[in-house]
Amino acid sequence: MSTLDWIDEEITNLKEQGLYNHIRTIESAMDGWVVINGREMLNFCANNYLGLANHPRLKAAAKDAIDEYGVGPGAVRSIAGTITLHDKLEQALAEFKHAEACLTFQSGFTANLATIPALVGKEDVIFSDELNHASIIDGCRLSRAKIVGYAHNDMADLEAKLGEHTNYGRRLIVSDGVFSMDGDIAPLDKLCDLAEKHGCILMVDDAHGEGVLGTGGRGIVDHFGLHGRVDIEVGTLSKAFGVVGGLVAGKKSLVDWLKQRGRPFLFSSAMTAPDAAACLEAVAMLQESTELVDRLWANATLMKGEMAKMGFDIGHSTTPIVPIMLGEAPLARKFSQRLFEEGVFAMAIGFPTVAKGKARIRVMNSAAHSQSDLEQGLAIFEKVGRELGVI
Ligand SMILES: *Cc1c(COP(=O)(O)O)cnc(C)c1O
Repeated sequence: MSTLDWIDEEITNLKEQGLYNHIRTIESAMDGWVVINGREMLNFCANNYLGLANHPRLKAAAKDAIDEYGVGPGAVRSIAGTITLHDKLEQALAEFKHAEACLTFQSGFTANLATIPALVGKEDVIFSDELNHASIIDGCRLSRAKIVGYAHNDMADLEAKLGEHTNYGRRLIVSDGVFSMDGDIAPLDKLCDLAEKHGCILMVDDAHGEGVLGTGGRGIVDHFGLHGRVDIEVGTLSKAFGVVGGLVAGKKSLVDWLKQRGRPFLFSSAMTAPDAAACLEAVAMLQESTELVDRLWANATLMKGEMAKMGFDIGHSTTPIVPIMLGEAPLARKFSQRLFEEGVFAMAIGFPTVAKGKARIRVMNSAAHSQSDLEQGLAIFEKVGRELGVI
């Protein structure tokens, strides 16, 4: 008997319920096509929206940075780990997003863990969309503030809850920008109105909108034209930007405060030099041209249009994320498995990531796909859809 025997039982339970997470290993660069088990697969799984993860310009920038700065940051940023590239990247991101200032983190996840507890504490209250990302949920828990969930994107419910919870110090409203399972967008203009009316801090996590929404991928604040009205914009450099890292954009004072009180900033080492250099190159490319963002949206529009014509239920996404709604988890798993056999890599998503009975295949579009990739992919989706009686 060991004190960890219960883990084996838990794992067996997960496998019996079909909830065990089998992780595929990618044997190539992350791109529109990837190699899995020695076979070229058409990739509809990645958040690599703009195809930057394997872009020659980003790779060259990362290599140059290694030659100049080496590979490791050496320490946390507040002690000896801030290099020129971090400062440059933060300036470039602030400019790109028309924000006063910006701070980078190791990831989007740590950006949330740093930011929320730096803003609210025991005497305070957080109003959080019930479908918010795990990193927001964990950031809220770490803050020890009272957490009040509101129904997804339901402004009437939020306003009612705001009215019920007035007896607190600071009040924070936090929402995902794009909800990654359905591809729908938070009504940020209405969130702004409510935050202003009720004197709340407003924070949006734009992980799936960064590089996707707004002019040339400037994000959800730009999409709604709300510059200066959203207190905190969190983002990631790991999705459309193709690298890894997180960011917070907002007022100079906010960034200054996070440098003093953001725990993952103070107690965990920074993005590496090649990461920062590759991100800087990504920002430069987005500043130069909207070509990649335009291609992403054109690809997504084509995929959605054709899938709807074939008769698939593709939900109500308004972004390049396309859910194929299938209902029961076993059907979604079978669908994903048949796609895989036919050469398409697209994940089945079921409970607890989405509600019971709402299992789906999530199709992630990318500028990395050519027209013929999309045609090839669509033919396989249609074949499997007919075979399994979905269309
Ligand atoms: C993906 C995601 C994150 C995490 O970003 P990483 O950079 O991968 O840590 C945070 N928030 C939301 C809403 C996300 O979708």
